[in-house]
Amino acid sequence: MKNYLRIAIQKSGRLQEGSMALLKESGLAISNGRGQLKTQARNFPVEILFLRDDDIPQYIEDKVADVGIVGENVFVEKNKNNTLIKRLDFAKCRLSLAVPKSDNYTGLSSLQGKNIATSYPVIVKKYLEANNVQAGIHEISGSVEIAPGIGLAEAICDIVSTGSTLLSNGLKEVETVMQSEAVMIAGPDLSDEKQEILDQLLFRLEAVNSAKNNKYILLNCPDEAIEKITSVIPGMKSPTVMPLSRKGWSSLHSVVNENAFWEKIDQLKSFGAEGILVIPIEKMIL
Ligand code: ATP
Ligand code: ZN
Repeated sequence: MKNYLRIAIQKSGRLQEGSMALLKESGLAISNGRGQLKTQARNFPVEILFLRDDDIPQYIEDKVADVGIVGENVFVEKNKNNTLIKRLDFAKCRLSLAVPKSDNYTGLSSLQGKNIATSYPVIVKKYLEANNVQAGIHEISGSVEIAPGIGLAEAICDIVSTGSTLLSNGLKEVETVMQSEAVMIAGPDLSDEKQEILDQLLFRLEAVNSAKNNKYILLNCPDEAIEKITSVIPGMKSPTVMPLSRKGWSSLHSVVNENAFWEKIDQLKSFGAEGILVIPIEKMIL
């Protein structure tokens, strides 16, 4: 029988779309039929299992799935026999402590002897221990932000991205407990055959993510500026330079990191670059 790599992803929720998109951009022909439990890629030896994200680490430990995509927060909280094999650069958020806005919070010691409501008791316990604070932990599975309002706890620890949910519940964020993003996790000792499939998939994911973080840049410049411009945007090996039909001018093509782009643009202009075009890259293999 043919060996498939079984990849568990969230069946619905904040990780679902990003996980599917990443797998599709990696060239996997998969469809997400509604209510399906699993599906096979038509062109690659993988099977996708759609599961509740919180259950994925256990399924991987039990070898029902070989690898999975979860939030780093869930990976750390569940603490199963899983290894983090790749950060995936989406679903970025943080796990934070928050207290009512009106509280006079002066530091972690303000939480001494208080009760903290959270869906992440393991992470919170470790954090409090590391900081020498004794506080009660009240585990609840959802709507953690309402706990102070109904008198269940004096503080909460929950996922924050913009902070607007906290604000609308009269809370303020006071400490970041951990940063999180979607990660790929794997169980122990995959067969050689599955490891090979996984390596191919990781190679593709890397190409997709590098491409997302980089742009193709084209510009015109006077020939004497080529050297200086090359030092600012060296690209993968070095830029491509082609003469323009206008004497003394060239077209220069390179790759630039998305985050660095806006800082570099003024420099490029000051060296005489004109007609700058920035184009998305679909896949990038270094
Ligand atoms: P349930 O499993 O009950 O549906 P959940 O909180 O586990 O609830 P989601 O809300 O879909 O499920 O969140 C899944 C993961 O997405 C979280 O574990 C976290 O890593 C990430 N996440 C959650 N909220 C945000 C957010 N606002 N912005 C970015 N990532 C988030
Ligand atoms: Zn969940």
